[in-house]
Amino acid sequence: MDCQTKALHTTPMHVDPYGSLSVPVYHTAAYQFPDAASMIEAFSGRSGEPDYSRTMNPTVTFLEDKVRSLTGAQSVTAFNSGMVAISNFFLAALSAGRNVVISRHMFGNTYSLLTNTLKRFGIEARIVDLLDINQVVEAVDENTGCLFLEIITNPQLEVADLNALSVICHRKHVPLVADTTILPFTEFDARTLGVDFQLVSSTKYLSGGATSLGGLIIDYGHFPEIDQRIKTELLFNLGAYMTPHAAYMQTIGLETLHARYTLQSANALAIARKLQTLPQVCKVGYVGLPDNPFHELARRQFGPSAGAMVTFDLASQEACFRFIDRLKLIYRATNLFDNKSLAIHPYSTIFVNYTAQQKAEMDVLPTTIRLSVGLESVDDLFADICQALEA
Ligand SMILES: *Cc1c(COP(=O)(O)O)cnc(C)c1O
Repeated sequence: MDCQTKALHTTPMHVDPYGSLSVPVYHTAAYQFPDAASMIEAFSGRSGEPDYSRTMNPTVTFLEDKVRSLTGAQSVTAFNSGMVAISNFFLAALSAGRNVVISRHMFGNTYSLLTNTLKRFGIEARIVDLLDINQVVEAVDENTGCLFLEIITNPQLEVADLNALSVICHRKHVPLVADTTILPFTEFDARTLGVDFQLVSSTKYLSGGATSLGGLIIDYGHFPEIDQRIKTELLFNLGAYMTPHAAYMQTIGLETLHARYTLQSANALAIARKLQTLPQVCKVGYVGLPDNPFHELARRQFGPSAGAMVTFDLASQEACFRFIDRLKLIYRATNLFDNKSLAIHPYSTIFVNYTAQQKAEMDVLPTTIRLSVGLESVDDLFADICQALEA
């Protein structure tokens, strides 16, 4: 079945007595049982029926089932934000004395989680250049809990060769874990690229209208001990499960994901091409452009579309601030893949708490603007960009 059809048609665990076409929002903490025997079946996990909404809720299960059917995953767990999906994963896969191999290009909070928070618990983050396979081979050893990367890094837009990395990982029985937030999971097959777990901030493409925060662990079943720990230990002990209301909004978002993404990614490519024609723009970052160094690799791994995030460089930080200040249509905001277009200067905002040296090491430049391209008309967006650049 086609992904758009699957996104719209999912059979719920129980048929709604009223035949509601929209998934019911089960705003309840607990569930009543007919007898002691069915309580035992539920609490032991055998019946698959919910007992308490910290660990299971029918509305959240419905969203998880939709994602499972779209990705072919063995199991999907929904969390209250992308960061808790990521932190729960690390807490399941790592322990004191073990290490995690990561790229030097990484979402700021994930980087801080590993190099500050989890470091205090005795976990070592080994930062490597994922484009240098020898560094990876050297870093991955018998104490490595996982190799973690983002499929297209933000804002540097670096793409690693997933198949090559998965061979290194799997030789040592180390899971390859990918934060795939930057592209919808409906657009490519992460499993055939050797990815064992996808971690997704569903705040972004899934929610669409920026209605809610959410995160997903999409598990292909290759490391059952990690899944087991997430489902039977961490959900109970950490309480980071998605709430039913967020799951409802993200389900509605998921139903239109493919349609929105098709338009958004086409808009992003058009804007990237137009930016290349402007003399004020020194450089455009978008892997969908044929002259981008990662274009071929990204195409081979992720298919023809290249996401809805575009970066570009101006002559100076001051020029970036002038551009941001003059925008009339595009919103000055963080977040990605809202229906509306957003612009930000990452160096002075998202990375404000990093030293100049750390930013230099991460290739976060003071001259870069990040655009999340929305669903508006390309002509209107480009007109706003041109007037903001005084072009
Ligand atoms: C936004 C984002 C996150 C964090 O997700 P939240 O839902 O904001 O907690 C993690 N990774 C990437 C690549 C992101 O863009």
